[in-house]
Amino acid sequence: MKIRNFRCVLCKKEYKPSEVEYICTKCGPSGILEVIYNYNSFINKAKVPYEFKNTMWELLNFLPMDNSKKVKKFGDEDTQYFSKDDFNNIPPLKVGGTPIYRNKTLSRQLQIKDLYIKDDTVNPTSSLKDRASALVVKLALDKGVEAITCASTGNAASSLAGICASVGLKCYIFVPKAAPKAKIAQLLMYGAEVFAVDGSYDDAFDLSIEATNKFGWYNRNTAYNPFTIEGKKTVSLEIANQLSFKIPDKVFVPVGDGCIISGVYKGFYDLIKIGIIKKIPQLIAVQAEGSNAIYLAMKRGDKIESIKPNTIADSIAVGRPRNGEMAISNIRASNGGIEVVSDEEILNAMRILAERTGIFAEPAGATAFAGLIKMSREKKLKPDETVVILVTGSGLKDIDSALKAVKKPHFIKPDINDVEKNL
Ligand SMILES: [Zn+2]
Repeated sequence: MKIRNFRCVLCKKEYKPSEVEYICTKCGPSGILEVIYNYNSFINKAKVPYEFKNTMWELLNFLPMDNSKKVKKFGDEDTQYFSKDDFNNIPPLKVGGTPIYRNKTLSRQLQIKDLYIKDDTVNPTSSLKDRASALVVKLALDKGVEAITCASTGNAASSLAGICASVGLKCYIFVPKAAPKAKIAQLLMYGAEVFAVDGSYDDAFDLSIEATNKFGWYNRNTAYNPFTIEGKKTVSLEIANQLSFKIPDKVFVPVGDGCIISGVYKGFYDLIKIGIIKKIPQLIAVQAEGSNAIYLAMKRGDKIESIKPNTIADSIAVGRPRNGEMAISNIRASNGGIEVVSDEEILNAMRILAERTGIFAEPAGATAFAGLIKMSREKKLKPDETVVILVTGSGLKDIDSALKAVKKPHFIKPDINDVEKNL
């Protein structure tokens, strides 16, 4: 769709696409911009990919490509509204098109009608963040930039590094030095230039912005580059599609900075704006107890205040949720809610999810599920509800945490009697 404007989430000022790149010039860092489309430019309504199965690029119609000029002589019938340029620079890795699984046993145990698990661990670098990275890398290549940068607690960084590797784009990464080893290993294997910052994610974030300004790199930071949400929204476009546009009652989303949940909201919002669905599901944000700044703000009904994050779920360990205001407004607009879960509940959810579904999530990846278990236990769900949980990142990214969730193996001698004794 064609972008009409960018709109500041705080002061609501609108900017033409040529006037601004990242954030509201009046509000500064908190003035995150939303992408506002000209929804009339959504052509091909009948061609919404009902047979959606491959990658997020099948959703090009929903992404910020200018398809307002009909291109008659390019591509087949489905793609004739895009110019060749729209298809340039699309990273080759298979991003999106991830499976959704219905689990009858768990839905019975949780006393809801249906449970669907959207498994984004199967993206190329094993997290949902690939959706944002892929779109931002395409746009960076369209712009012709020489390098791209981001700060991240781990997944956005490893994702950006992997997608950059697939297209040969240089990338500079800022991570807190406490990021899990597997995520740092991914970065280095993908050939990124890695700065492990002696400080928090917030310090790494600020430093990456300084570097962006100083060295002229393109910046992929979430809650800074408005297109990360546009990439992430493809997850809800897929969910809607995979459920044949029967919109679920609730979608559970792990929340740190609040960007994924805004992406989820935006996907459903776009579908409403072009008349494909009637309502947005209730979005249930789930935060870790040790990283609950958005939860506290919503309970107080007040502004978000910084906290000192302390949780096993590193991907959502955030002191100052950069996208917090937008996330809160999206949660409210969906008539949703927010829950917090302890690290113990997260570890428990990781184990149950892996044991019962075969999906191995990292702590943040299982946090949505932990929130669902908690709400079920507290009888906050209705028996006729259909629920989707997002699993956002793979457990292989954080083995140390995973080992805390499980019992030890049987340590035995290579002797069949030892096996028998332990059965
Ligand atoms: Zn503003």
